[in-house]
Formats: sequence, C-alpha cells, structure tokens
Amino acid sequence: MHIPFCKSRCSYCDFVSYTDFSHVESYFNCLNKEIEMWSKLLGKQKIDTVYIGGGTPSDVPIEYISKLLKNVEKRFHLVDPEITVEINPNFSRFADLKNLGINRLSIGLQAADDTVLKAVSRRHSVYDFRKAYEGASAYFDNVNIDFIIGLPQESRQTITRNLELVEQYRPKHVSVYILEIHTENAIVSQIDQDNTAIHHEIFVNELERLGYERYEISNFSLPGYRCKHNLKYWHNDDYVGIGVSAGGHVKSKRYVNVSNLHRYIEMINSGEFAFEYFHENSSFEELRETLFMSLRLCDGVEIRRLKKLSPKMNVYRLIEMFPGQLIFDRNRLKISKSGMDFSCTLLSEIIDKDTLLRVTGGE
Ligand code: SF4
Repeated sequence: MHIPFCKSRCSYCDFVSYTDFSHVESYFNCLNKEIEMWSKLLGKQKIDTVYIGGGTPSDVPIEYISKLLKNVEKRFHLVDPEITVEINPNFSRFADLKNLGINRLSIGLQAADDTVLKAVSRRHSVYDFRKAYEGASAYFDNVNIDFIIGLPQESRQTITRNLELVEQYRPKHVSVYILEIHTENAIVSQIDQDNTAIHHEIFVNELERLGYERYEISNFSLPGYRCKHNLKYWHNDDYVGIGVSAGGHVKSKRYVNVSNLHRYIEMINSGEFAFEYFHENSSFEELRETLFMSLRLCDGVEIRRLKKLSPKMNVYRLIEMFPGQLIFDRNRLKISKSGMDFSCTLLSEIIDKDTLLRVTGGE
C-alpha cells in the first residue's frame, strides 16, 4: 500500500510523493475503497504479508494507518502475517504501531553521516536515527535499515560509519541500494560512479563479514529474517498493490495504477480501478518475469517452476550461453557469486527475447 506523502522532499527523490497534505483524507478513503474493490473481486483471500510503504507512511496521522489495517483485516483472511511499515527516523510512536499489529519496521536512514544526509536534504540526523532505533527496539525485534550508496559527500569514512552503526545495532535486515536517478535532477552531476562501485563493494563484503547473508542483490539479513513480503515480488508470486503508482501481479495479470494523485482519487471515486497499465501475461511473459525477478535471489529459481511455464525450456543451453555467470545447483538455476556484481546487465541479457526464444524452442 503506497502512502505518497512526505513532509519534505529529498533532493534525489525519484518517487511519486507529495508534500501537500491537503488530500490525505480523501486519498485514504480511496485506499479503503480500493481494498474493498479487490476483496469483492478476489473474495476473502488468505494474506500473510502486508507492506505499507511510501513516500513516508509515518508522516501521516497513525489513525489513517490503523483504519487501513482494520479494513484489510475485515476483508481478507490474515494468516500469521508479517506487517511492515516504513518510517522516517523522526518518528517516535512505536507503542502505537505495535498495538496496530505491525511487527516489522523499515527505517530509512540512507547514510550514517550528517554531511551526507544534509547534502540530499534529508530531514533527520544520525542522532534522530539513533533515538528512533533505540525507541523502536523496545517494541520491535524485526527492523530493517535502508542505506543508499552513491550519495553526494559519500567517502570511505562515511561508508565505515554505516558499517560501525550496523555492527553496533545488528538490525535483523539491511537493504543497500545504489542511487539511481531516472529523471532530470541536479544531484546527478555530483555522483561519482567509480567510487560508488568501490563503496558498494566494501559495504557488501563487510556486511557479509558481519554475518549478514546477501539473499538478494540489494538485501541482507541475519538467519531467519529475510523479508517475507519482498520475497513475493522476487518469486513472482501474486500480490495486490494499492494506491497511486502501486503495481500488482494477480493470476498472471500485471497492472500498475496511475501515478497522479488526483487522477487516482477521481477514478477510484467513480468506482473503477485506477489502472494505467493492465496486461494479461502469456506463459512466455511469465517466464521472462519469473527469471528476471527470481535470479535476483541467491537461491535462484526452481527448474520445475521454469518447466511449468515453458515445458520445452532447455536450462542447460541457457547456462552455456552465460558461462561462469549462471549455474545449476540442486535443481535450481542461480546467478553465480561473480555474476551478482553484474546482475543488472546480466539479467537484461538473460531475459532478452531472442535469447529466451532460443532456449524455449520458440514457445
Ligand atoms: S522520503 Fe523517500 S519518497 Fe519521500 S521525498 Fe525522500 S526519497 Fe522521496
């Protein structure tokens, strides 16, 4: 569920988020309507993960989040769910979040250095984060910290600070993203690509040394704490995305909602889904998506799953086409450790239409 509101805007922001809060109430009414629409369509389905992201969900009054969760609970069948909410380090109402049934937090720290945080107009300081993390720890055992590598003012020293903070708190989960900006943005000129690659390598290696398992290209966890919700995306399982610019995958149908808040509100209020994109995938398209998502995981994908989507698929031929980068391991297809570092290019080459047509016999 996407909450597209933030009290201020970070200079690198590439997401759909609004600093004008005047439509929060009507937006939440629409989220609740969209939940109702999906429950009518799908029936009282079992749900085992809920993710409330943004934007900054912790910037809106908690009562809205409470109503949203109650609505999900009423219309679906929640089974021992992992319920995550993203928070900003300025947040402090942890007991209230816990009382709503939320059991996992994701805190957007981004960097453990105030100069870096200031350079990208983040509202919080490292001190704010420490206060929030320590406050959260009294109520939550399962906490993720988000970091971004490649921000302006980043250096070896600031990467070391990130690592020292992880070593001190030992959060159960750490996400490490490389800054990517797809739109015109003034900070693009301040990004040092070479150093970003070096900093990323240092961070990743040190996290592994600290006992974190890199179970996905950008995600690390202590044993037993992989993010169940995000695993659904990477397994290309079914999920429903609610809200502006949210996407979903339901029984081989793929959709993305409109990214304009007013348009979203208008469409939902008129009783229709707010799709901007809607497509029924063929088996071949499902195969491409499954490979693209699942190969991001260190566990890769079960050959059986691929064969189900494409019975004639020749997995060995695919491995031969990417020597040293794709491997076969206990009935699974995986990207090798060295392949992980070039995953973006590698994944696009693997799911290239011609490549896949060659290994599936044109199915
Ligand atoms: S908190 Fe996230 S969504 Fe909000 S402005 Fe910053 S980068 Fe954008």
